[in-house]
Amino acid sequence: MAEIYYDDDADLSIIQGKKVAIIGYGSQGHAHALNLRDSGVDVVVGLREGSSSAEKAAEQGLAVKSIAQAVSEADVVMILTPDQVQRTVYAEEIAPNLKDEAALFFAHGFNIRFGYIEPTDSHDICMVAPKGPGHTVRRQYEEGRGVPAIVAVENDASGQAWDLALSYAKAMGATRAGVVKTTFTEETETDLFGEQTVLCGGVSQLIQYGFETLIEAGYQPEIAYFEVCHELKLIVDLINEGGLTKQRWSCSDTAEYGDYVSGPRVITPEVKENMKAVLADIQDGSFAKRFIDDQEAGAPEFLKLRKQGESHPIEKTGHELRKSFGWTDRDSDYTDGSAAR
Ligand code: NAD
Ligand code: MG
Repeated sequence: MAEIYYDDDADLSIIQGKKVAIIGYGSQGHAHALNLRDSGVDVVVGLREGSSSAEKAAEQGLAVKSIAQAVSEADVVMILTPDQVQRTVYAEEIAPNLKDEAALFFAHGFNIRFGYIEPTDSHDICMVAPKGPGHTVRRQYEEGRGVPAIVAVENDASGQAWDLALSYAKAMGATRAGVVKTTFTEETETDLFGEQTVLCGGVSQLIQYGFETLIEAGYQPEIAYFEVCHELKLIVDLINEGGLTKQRWSCSDTAEYGDYVSGPRVITPEVKENMKAVLADIQDGSFAKRFIDDQEAGAPEFLKLRKQGESHPIEKTGHELRKSFGWTDRDSDYTDGSAAR
């Protein structure tokens, strides 16, 4: 059974006694900076020159400095830039300014696991990875709740790295929900696997195939959208609350029976073999290499695939339909449709 920690297991005063630099002010960055600040932690946000986020962070009452300046003053540096730029930001702006005994924090183990960042032994290397998007992490904290997180220590230079990581997690609100102990390797490999095979890749492909099948059979796109996409959230909410059993309990017996007889016809044992192949590519570093090599070249493959995804017919149908109904929650920095990218 995994080790789970709650508020009582963590000492908030540890992180309250440190100066924390949050590098990046995106989805996770804004949530970490604001939650820590509201938990009484001394926070500075480190941003590159000319960053469009600087104004936003300052408006929210946060101290904003250059990355070099923020890092040079910090006891704890949380790196929350996109994974593909972390190694460059680390080499150019973090490492040269990092105090010898400063702790390095991550919200995903990618760069440590695959060796793109190799800090010297004098630093605690910790992970506090909220298991939810940054905007949810912030919203839940404000509501007095918390998004669960997983924590790991890759290097315990101070002998206190675990206490520090748990203290940070408490300031994030994560120990209100529960924090699970893991390792950088386990988090990185399972996180990539989950998003590729099930959460992002698997679900996206499943929705697209479902939509295409109905359209090609002559059904209306709007109806197809409701049946294979809109209702997914309602189903997932039930799974989130009570597992597959609650989902099946809440659905009609017709739906439940169809689940049992048709699910395995669609998702065949071959799919599991494909999942194993994806996992192997993650474990041996070839997915990481493909991603980083493409990014290094200006991301031609990534941008082509993004465009391809955005031009699938279900995106147009969904865009029009969501405008006609009042059910969507928007994040202030997300613009529906591709124009704003
Ligand atoms: P993001 O893309 O939302 O934000 C990144 C921020 O980094 C930008 O807002 C900007 O402030 C800064 N930035 C961007 N490019 C930069 C550059 N070239 N140089 C310096 N700064 C730059 O990123 P995110 O989704 O918050 O991800 C940050 C980390 O958190 C990643 O390690 C990611 O794996 C992890 N994570 C994300 C989520 C999530 O829900 N988004 C969940 C768990 C963990
Ligand atoms: Mg994940």
